[in-house]
Amino acid sequence: MNFLEKKICEEGVILSPTVLKVDSFLNHQIDPLFMQQIGCEIANRYKTEKITKILTIESSGIAPAVFAGLELDVPVVFARKKKSLTLTDGLLTSKVYSFTKQVENEISAASKFLQAGERVLIIDDFLAHGEAALGLAELVNKAGAHICGFGIVIEKSFQDGRQKLIDKGYRVESIARISEMSPEGITFLKSEVLSS
Ligand code: 5GP
Repeated sequence: MNFLEKKICEEGVILSPTVLKVDSFLNHQIDPLFMQQIGCEIANRYKTEKITKILTIESSGIAPAVFAGLELDVPVVFARKKKSLTLTDGLLTSKVYSFTKQVENEISAASKFLQAGERVLIIDDFLAHGEAALGLAELVNKAGAHICGFGIVIEKSFQDGRQKLIDKGYRVESIARISEMSPEGITFLKSEVLSS
């Protein structure tokens, strides 16, 4: 078991066969040292890709993205889920449907922070049906920048998000890949950690 799989088993709460709660270290309280380890691991997997920017989405993608940005020495941009009073001009937008909240959000990022020619790593906390990931990819494509791949903290491999991204030709790196969640426990697909 890698360090994240171990933490998920110790602290994760299975809310249903498809929803995992990990608010003790990722979705509410953040364990900084642990999050740094996650950020480093994502960064290591992309260190030869000449990444120039990391893109994530508020709020739970920000912590792992910042630590990956620290390691790769690149800026981190987070897409917003709500319109900002100060963010009005030069907006890139896309629509994201949330299966957990059952709402559609328009996400946005300022085009001045995401420009043509950039090499972008997209990071998020969970990959489920791939809606958030594809929405972020659309922002990068609208900017005319290049998507180097995705860095995911927890992938629920029994849902179709990974396949949607692979079908579009994207590289997907997930630190923990869950193949099944049940009252008996959580089963993982192999995900080898490079940095520890
Ligand atoms: P997707 O867009 O891939 O369907 O879902 C990814 C987004 O939904 C993530 O950004 C995450 O916020 C949320 N999400 C999806 N599944 C889970 C889950 O099992 N637990 C938690 N905490 N968030 C989830």
